[in-house]
Amino acid sequence: MDYLKETYPKLAATIIRKLEARNMDGAYYASAAEAKEAILAEMPEGSSVTWGGSETCKDMGLFDACLASSHLKALDRTTAKTPQEKRELYAKQTLCDYFLMSTNAITMDGELVNIDGNGNRVACLITGPTHVFVVCGMNKVAPDLQSAVLRARNFAAPANCLRVGRTKTPCLTTGRCANCLSEESICNQFVITRRSGVKGRIKVFLIGENLGF
Ligand code: SF4
Repeated sequence: MDYLKETYPKLAATIIRKLEARNMDGAYYASAAEAKEAILAEMPEGSSVTWGGSETCKDMGLFDACLASSHLKALDRTTAKTPQEKRELYAKQTLCDYFLMSTNAITMDGELVNIDGNGNRVACLITGPTHVFVVCGMNKVAPDLQSAVLRARNFAAPANCLRVGRTKTPCLTTGRCANCLSEESICNQFVITRRSGVKGRIKVFLIGENLGF
């Protein structure tokens, strides 16, 4: 038996109650496959959908499923070929019906912690798209805000530096965050989402698997 996984439904139920107190919705799925099906079913036919960089969503095939769907209008910002096209696609993203992303950490109290380089992902989390779906493996749950920030700094950010080829950061030399101001740093924006101003705009899909980093 996977004893850790057995504890997830109860912990997820606690987090979902806390999310609701913060004007956010939550749901728990035991597997990424079930969560993907639910997320796709929740977007009505004709909806426009877009996303920020997320290994979680990519690994579970969510982006590919959106692109392949005949009932969704998917907008993929990575198709931009010039800086101007990138700007225009970003502007269109902010008007989409649905924005998909993961989170670098979530506290047991329902706060979301995210670090961003360009800021487009956290900008859409804060405002713009009508709905935000946050897809999160239970490996990203932290007991409190301090440990969530430490998780984001010491695990998510270094891995993201490596993912985007920023290999000269101190964290990729020592394996831990040095709170650097390096030109290579991707840690430009630290965003803590403690409440949604619009009730139900943000929905967190907790998944009982290790997903992303
Ligand atoms: S602040 Fe610097 S050292 Fe810390 S995680 Fe970000 S890039 Fe790495």
